[in-house]
Amino acid sequence: MMTKRVEILGIPFIHTTQDDFITQLLQDALESKKRFVVTANPEIVMNARDDLDFKQVVLSADYITPDGVGILMAAKQQGNPLPERVTGFDTMQGILTQAVKHNLKIYFLGAKPDVNEAMQEKLKECFPALKIAGCRHGYFNLQENAEIVQEIKNTGADFVFVALGSPAQEKWIMSHFNTFEKGIFMGVGGSFDILSGTVKRAPKIILKLRIEWIYRFVTNPSRWRRFFAIPRFMKAVNRENRRNAK
Ligand code: UDP
Repeated sequence: MMTKRVEILGIPFIHTTQDDFITQLLQDALESKKRFVVTANPEIVMNARDDLDFKQVVLSADYITPDGVGILMAAKQQGNPLPERVTGFDTMQGILTQAVKHNLKIYFLGAKPDVNEAMQEKLKECFPALKIAGCRHGYFNLQENAEIVQEIKNTGADFVFVALGSPAQEKWIMSHFNTFEKGIFMGVGGSFDILSGTVKRAPKIILKLRIEWIYRFVTNPSRWRRFFAIPRFMKAVNRENRRNAK
């Protein structure tokens, strides 16, 4: 287990690089450990601040990763810098590659039915040797939950990626976590849309410059909500820093 943490507004982030985190999850999976991963951006931190029930969900995670430059900036301001962003998409991609090498099974829950279908095709194309434990779209009702949980359990999936959007995906994982005996569970937001080719990820050069959020912002207006959480988040961080300095 990764033990070094950096706490920002009451949320303990793991201090790790993207690659080390993938290695850690792989090791956990090979040991049949059960883990809950939350990739937290400023919006999630602020949601946790506003909604104590959601905060409990986030705090119940085994690993909370810094997903976004806002989190890195806050850590730096506090004098405890974090190495780099650890995102749901990059983690998922790394795990896909490792799963093929180590014969581990992955279950994909979420996204629209046609996106989930298209993603399956893409996976077969890009990772022909990947063991897909199962795929199911994310538009189901509460009564179907028991059946979905049973289905995932029956597959013996080593990894379960849940793409229902935040906070729904974190809440879903937390409320069913106890019923599973094993599995690494991680909410991955809109990652299936990217994986399926429905939504394009920012070009490499933009990623390198760490301005992916601008690209996302311009290409997807629904992300504006997330963007506007950043100033509120930074303000809260500054206030907390001043309080701690006194
Ligand atoms: N989604 C879903 N079921 C729902 C609502 C949303 O499967 O009831 C999916 C949606 O199709 C999309 C993802 O959840 O694939 C949410 O993506 P978004 O980028 O909005 O999530 P965020 O990254 O903001 O958490």
